[in-house]
Amino acid sequence: MNIVVLVKQVPDTYSERKLSDGDHTLDRDATDAVLDEINERAVESALQLKEANDGSEVTVVTMGPDRATDAIRKALSMGADKAVHLSDSALHGSCAVQTAKALAKVIGTLGEVDLVLAGNEASDGRSGAIPAMVADILDLPALTHARELTVEGSTVTVRRETDDGVTILTTELPAVVSVNEKINEPRYPSFKGIMAAKKKPVTTLSLADAGIDASEVGLANALTSVTSAQPKPPKSAGEKVEDEGDGGAKIAAFLVSQKLI
Ligand SMILES: Cc1cc2nc3c(=O)[nH]c(=O)nc-3n(C[C@H](O)[C@H](O)[C@H](O)COP(=O)(O)OP(=O)(O)OC[C@H]3O[C@@H](n4cnc5c(N)ncnc54)[C@H](O)[C@@H]3O)c2cc1C
Repeated sequence: MNIVVLVKQVPDTYSERKLSDGDHTLDRDATDAVLDEINERAVESALQLKEANDGSEVTVVTMGPDRATDAIRKALSMGADKAVHLSDSALHGSCAVQTAKALAKVIGTLGEVDLVLAGNEASDGRSGAIPAMVADILDLPALTHARELTVEGSTVTVRRETDDGVTILTTELPAVVSVNEKINEPRYPSFKGIMAAKKKPVTTLSLADAGIDASEVGLANALTSVTSAQPKPPKSAGEKVEDEGDGGAKIAAFLVSQKLI
């Protein structure tokens, strides 16, 4: 199987994340950057499929600034075979639609692809839209929010879990599958894996290399834009409930007032 995993470098959720004052885009330099945790799980799913299907190859694809190579190296050190990095300053501020179009173009440079794996959302943008958009552009079925994933022959089956319930979805390959945070526990890169990753091929593509016109991407051409932003208010102390024999009723009344029950 030829498996592609879409991976994104995101600000570490433990760092304070903020938008740039000028154009309200994510201030990537203000935070530590990591491979998105759900994407580690997508890589793990790809590696498990590779191990179960001799002759398979796992390619990670990312669109991101220069330092996204660190996220690529992490995926390669886990065991992915090679990587493609779409990196071009003109991509700055691209919206979800532009990102999906660009990623689809990159996937189009990789020959026959059987399975495109992604996270069901990214922890920074959180639109949760890219996998379905990529599938639509490539005219492939989209099986999203996978809690379980199996491939038998040319058939892929997922257990889709969302707040609305559980659905079993099946389709023929090629397909796009997005995985959720419960699908697996990603492996830690071994020392051998880290050393091997240094020698694995990473192809860096500019917009021109990927056949993308600069007018199709970037903040100036984005379909969505942030016009103003306010920092999150600091957490308040909360409400203390004194139990005088009626603590349960007071908590229930509080939850009702917050529309939580
Ligand atoms: C150079 C550059 C500058 C950017 N600047 C900004 C900015 O200033 N402000 C801003 O809001 N956004 C910016 N982006 C981010 C870009 O707009 C988002 O990646 C895009 O909108 C995806 O939305 P999301 O994170 O909500 O994806 P979701 O739909 O939540 O992600 C779902 C899954 O799709 C895949 N995916 C998503 N994005 C990528 C990616 N880039 N590469 C590979 N796989 C991916 C991952 O598997 C992810 O788990 C920039 C991107 C680049 C490359």
